Amino acid sequence: MNAKCNAWQQVSRMTGCCTCPTNNTLATFQHLPNSTKVSTLCRDRMHEFLAEELAAEGAALQKQQQQQQATEGEAGTTTSSQPQVVEDEKEEEEERAWRAALDRTFRRVDALASLACACGRIVRPPCRCLLSCNSDIVGSTAVVAVLVRGCVVVANCGDSRAVLCRGPAGAPPVPLSRDHKPDRPDELARIEAAGGRVIYINGHRVRGILAMSRALGDRMLRPEVIAEPEITVTDRTPQDQCLILASDGMWDVISNEIACSVARQCLEDGNPSPADDEPAAGGGEGAAAGPEQEARCSRAASLLVRLALGRTTWDNVSVVVIDLKQRE
Ligand SMILES: [Zn+2]
Repeated sequence: MNAKCNAWQQVSRMTGCCTCPTNNTLATFQHLPNSTKVSTLCRDRMHEFLAEELAAEGAALQKQQQQQQATEGEAGTTTSSQPQVVEDEKEEEEERAWRAALDRTFRRVDALASLACACGRIVRPPCRCLLSCNSDIVGSTAVVAVLVRGCVVVANCGDSRAVLCRGPAGAPPVPLSRDHKPDRPDELARIEAAGGRVIYINGHRVRGILAMSRALGDRMLRPEVIAEPEITVTDRTPQDQCLILASDGMWDVISNEIACSVARQCLEDGNPSPADDEPAAGGGEGAAAGPEQEARCSRAASLLVRLALGRTTWDNVSVVVIDLKQRE
């Protein structure tokens, strides 16, 4: 499939903001390749679902903490003598909440995706138009990054990738997701355990059809192809420069190292010497992007797309660049 020059323009923007359980500003960024209805569905609904799921998790967490305090009050015990233990437990609980909320968000999008028809409609009961026989192979990958409370949470389903550029120029990039390729040993084992086969036809493919092992939609390939995301939680540091989310069309022809180098040069353009140890915007949240910052991110994404097209990639290219530093 030829790369779509304008694809990135649809997705190279912040797709939604909401508030996390602890009332910190939360920014979500989604990378959604391909121009299928499923990717459009992800773009339009995923951040809304995530906001709902986080609100539910936040309410449950709050209730749990209140119950715990009440129990401690009755028993006359307190954990305040071990503040570090309390803080660690709180962080663990929050991480569990993130994972649960993202997991359910992907499940909800996938349930809607299963109603997507090749004609473009998403209806219940399922569409019965002439194209509906092709609807079982409609799908999308998704990689979602959430910046909050000094960490970045990434949920990935498919072969798009999130990469963090950290440290001085030339420092090794930090991948925040692992591609779901059918020949990845653990994915291959899972596919075979589900009764499926990976066949080599112009690359490793599930049943010789799909070149990735997880996707939203693509219901014909269940149970081997699943929509469950892999989630990573990474602490942010003052050395973090930017985050790149992109589809395999870009990663096929541009290495993590080159992508980071190009993106950081674009972001630094016009800013003589931003100190590496300068804290990110919003006390580390880095979510308050101004117009100039957004323009630089767009230029960086645009350049990466053009670079991938120049290297004659064979797949769709879409790129999102998120600046993690205060550069104004
Ligand atoms: Zn239809």
